[in-house]
Amino acid sequence: MDQADAAPPHATRADDPLPRPVLRSAVELYLDLHAHPELSGHEHRTAGRLAARLTELGCTVTRSVGGGHGIVGVLDNGPGPVVLLRTELDALPVTEETGLAYASTVPGVMHACGHDLHIAAVTGAVALLAASRDTWRGTLLVVGQPEEETLNGARSLLEEGRLYERFGVPDAVLAQHAAPLPAGTLAHAPAGGPPLMAGSVAVEAVLHGRGGHAATPHLNVDPVLMAAATVLRLRTAAAEATAPAEQAVLTVGSVRAGERGNVTPDHAELSLTVRAFTQDALDRLTTAAERVVRAEAAASGAPRAPGFTVTARSPALVPDPELTARVRLAHERLLGLGRVLDLSGSSATEDFPHFAAGGVPVAYWMLGTTGAGPWRTARAGGDPVPPNHAPGFAPDVRAALPVGIAALAAAARQVLAPRPAEGRGTDS
Ligand SMILES: [Zn+2]
Ligand SMILES: [Zn+2]
Repeated sequence: MDQADAAPPHATRADDPLPRPVLRSAVELYLDLHAHPELSGHEHRTAGRLAARLTELGCTVTRSVGGGHGIVGVLDNGPGPVVLLRTELDALPVTEETGLAYASTVPGVMHACGHDLHIAAVTGAVALLAASRDTWRGTLLVVGQPEEETLNGARSLLEEGRLYERFGVPDAVLAQHAAPLPAGTLAHAPAGGPPLMAGSVAVEAVLHGRGGHAATPHLNVDPVLMAAATVLRLRTAAAEATAPAEQAVLTVGSVRAGERGNVTPDHAELSLTVRAFTQDALDRLTTAAERVVRAEAAASGAPRAPGFTVTARSPALVPDPELTARVRLAHERLLGLGRVLDLSGSSATEDFPHFAAGGVPVAYWMLGTTGAGPWRTARAGGDPVPPNHAPGFAPDVRAALPVGIAALAAAARQVLAPRPAEGRGTDS
């Protein structure tokens, strides 16, 4: 990310045109959601709050789409293009350390990825569009997606929920994500650049040993040792399976084995993530990881073959270049050139690419959330800005939310057909 040239935050032009009631309702919703986060797969209350707000705004809302807490709101405004606005619903198993008055009231759970901000922004954008139905034609689909953090929700909505069959194939799918850039800015992937986000594969591996007394290693098959060797070898295998110019990551994020120092357990579990920008690299690294897990188990004399289960997959996020160019132009008109930044590819991942199924054009951009104070402090060499997933992640709502609302509405208007009216030119 080119953060060095970023304009200072705050005082956005987008603040001005937002009607006060729209912003007030979005802020209230944000504060409530932030205080009551729910983990992936448990987004019952969050889905209910979003559904209630969308209903108030005139949407027809369907709940439990895809078998989980997915919701779809439809704002039908006559024949015309279909635009899907997507927000995630879930929070993370993180203990909040922001000290904010509206901090999480749920122990060990926090909206540390900003999905609460995304929900509030979507409702604000729908409010703007609902209040100006005479200026556009088409259908707005609002999707509240559960289980993004576990990378399962988008697939459930699209496959089990048959999202596009039931609600129509959209002409564009739009989403934004909170990011530690200056609040008041947006960032887009430059046309023709690398994918905006990596594709990923999540794996759970189980190494089987033979438990026993820790003092008699010759009678046991030690899964702790097997896990340690496997973790080290996985890193090497990842390096070997990756071309020098290729960006790829293989990280073991969790190792679980044993309870006590004097007992050799009978199994160990590893959770790993593979990230890469091409499907070929993802497949190659996943194959290499499986080979290492199996070979290390065999080398240790494991009594049975290890488990190796892919629990989630997501392709790389490649925004549609033509749609992105139109959306970016709308954002530049909204905020001015200096507040729309270029974004380089990130090894972060998203299950949003599933919405591009069947060639549906998708656009995705970053919404800056860092307030002026923390930004200046970090730039001056002080405390770094807490990023997404950190316990201190604290979006500057006053500066970021109005921009998020206006950015989504402006992007949607790029696709929705303008409705010519007396004295009104075509929409920008
Ligand atoms: Zn996240
Ligand atoms: Zn997120």
